[in-house]
Amino acid sequence: MLEIKERSIIIRIDTSKCEACETKACAAACKKFARGYLQIVDGKPSVEHLTPEEVLRLGTECLACEIACKFEGNKALEIEVPIKGLDEYLAKRGLA
Ligand code: SF4
Repeated sequence: MLEIKERSIIIRIDTSKCEACETKACAAACKKFARGYLQIVDGKPSVEHLTPEEVLRLGTECLACEIACKFEGNKALEIEVPIKGLDEYLAKRGLA
């Protein structure tokens, strides 16, 4: 599992699904819609060429990699977007 922390989101990639992925759509989407920091190394997405500080600086939180992986890849990538107060809001509205 690869975990990438940007400023307000966490990207988690089950890289065991990536070697069989023919499109590598995540990296292509990152390059097309953001700054292209996600690279494919040995058949898997990687940010090893960057420091954590560089990931924070380059990450645009555009979510393109998740959409690309879901529709064109092997559904290996999920993005957590923590929203402060959401649980309390949903509970207050009876939606939790
Ligand atoms: S598109 Fe999804 S399955 Fe394919 S390499 Fe990227 S994260 Fe892995």
